[in-house]
Amino acid sequence: MRVYDIAVVGAGPAGIMSCIRAAQFNRPEGSGLASHSQSQKNVILLERNNCIGKKILLSGKGRCNITNIVALDEFIAKFGRQGEFLRCAFSKFFNQDLIDFFKAKGLQLKIERQGRVFPTTDRAASVIEVLNKYLLESRAGLLYNTRVTGIEREGGLFKLFSEDGRLLNTKQIILATGGRSFSFTGSAGDGFAIAGKLGHSIAPLMPGLVPLKTKETWVRELKGLGLKNIRLTFKAKNKKIVSNVGELLFTHFGVSGPLVLDLSSSVLHLLAPRGGLIENKEVILEIDLKPGLGPKQLEERLLREFGIAGKKSVKNVLKELLPQKFAVVFVNLLGIDYNKRANQVTKEERRSLLNMLKSLRLHITGSLPLEEAMVTCGGVSTKEINPRTMESKIVQGLYFAGEIIDGSAPSGGYNLQQAFSTGYLAGEQAARAKNA
Ligand SMILES: Cc1cc2nc3c(=O)[nH]c(=O)nc-3n(C[C@H](O)[C@H](O)[C@H](O)COP(=O)(O)OP(=O)(O)OC[C@H]3O[C@@H](n4cnc5c(N)ncnc54)[C@H](O)[C@@H]3O)c2cc1C
Repeated sequence: MRVYDIAVVGAGPAGIMSCIRAAQFNRPEGSGLASHSQSQKNVILLERNNCIGKKILLSGKGRCNITNIVALDEFIAKFGRQGEFLRCAFSKFFNQDLIDFFKAKGLQLKIERQGRVFPTTDRAASVIEVLNKYLLESRAGLLYNTRVTGIEREGGLFKLFSEDGRLLNTKQIILATGGRSFSFTGSAGDGFAIAGKLGHSIAPLMPGLVPLKTKETWVRELKGLGLKNIRLTFKAKNKKIVSNVGELLFTHFGVSGPLVLDLSSSVLHLLAPRGGLIENKEVILEIDLKPGLGPKQLEERLLREFGIAGKKSVKNVLKELLPQKFAVVFVNLLGIDYNKRANQVTKEERRSLLNMLKSLRLHITGSLPLEEAMVTCGGVSTKEINPRTMESKIVQGLYFAGEIIDGSAPSGGYNLQQAFSTGYLAGEQAARAKNA
């Protein structure tokens, strides 16, 4: 049976980059990607689908937000407790390196709000085209429609098994099988089971960047309505957990939208089962619908609006402050007859209106399942991976790259950069290894 130097499992951004870098690494200086040398590694990339990067095609709503231009420390901070683990990988291959990597193959990029980088084509498919070009030039082997089901270590080699039985032998292996969300793209969590069998601890898997469910059912009436420039504050036991300004989208089960997705990872652990018990903390979402106005200023504005309105209905006055659809639901929640005339609204009613505009409360009961989350939180424990090489501290010659590793960031291009950076480092280090 053929013995490879390096086998990479999974052709997502992490695996693709690992493969390109591993195949490229030992070439003589200046030889470029297209030429070969005696020392070039014998590398193979295995993918269960019939093409590379299915998840990349979905990313950034089909536009692929490949990275972010924020500075290194800010980038690292986005990954929270796991951020420092990534410092070496980011220092080796960071956002500008990734931008240059794509530009070198003619893909022009643009920077959008909050430093997000996209291809100017606005098509994730252009990213895939470039990656395919690099893979072709790398001359690494590519085996599609091959699902790796097991890995065993024997006599200094790794034996890889697929659904059809024994597949191949390899000296080094890079596991880049992704997380467990959007499993129809191929990442169904196989890598966690494989790593677990090889002796690795897997930090509990939880949804990250995921819509949230609410106890309140009135949200259904607002399904599809988006609110911009509002402040969301999550609280548990009256203590603030996290807060920020951005966009929210009402859904038939609760809330979604960019800001909800980003903040979701900060609150989900409070609702999740721990050691067989549900922590059962009540998580409250407070929505400040007018974050630009302090309570005093908002009161003056309300007095003005109601003063001018006279015989107009409350509902019509509120349309000046809220989207029409929302105004009706809002008045109902306040328990005010929405046909009541503005000049008949009592001081008490105006006060509760003010309070609700500044702090509309929703009870969070959970989230959509991991399958529907944009990223998987948890994964192979970073304590068991060498951050300088991405090699396992438990099994020599085993490397990890991408979302399979514990830790994730909010949206903004951070997660793809993590995949490309850890892939680059793992590929290079696997190629450097003495026995490869
Ligand atoms: C809808 C959506 C939009 C997103 N948008 C963005 C964005 O714009 N910017 C951003 O930074 N992040 C985004 N993300 C997150 C980002 O896509 C992931 O973090 C990233 O793809 C992880 O890369 P990966 O290579 O580790 O894993 P994946 O991309 O999941 O790739 C893993 C690969 O391994 C293969 N595989 C799995 N098991 C096996 C096996 N047993 N044998 C062989 N092959 C196997 C899979 O088929 C897959 O091709 C988005 C995610 C989703 C779901």
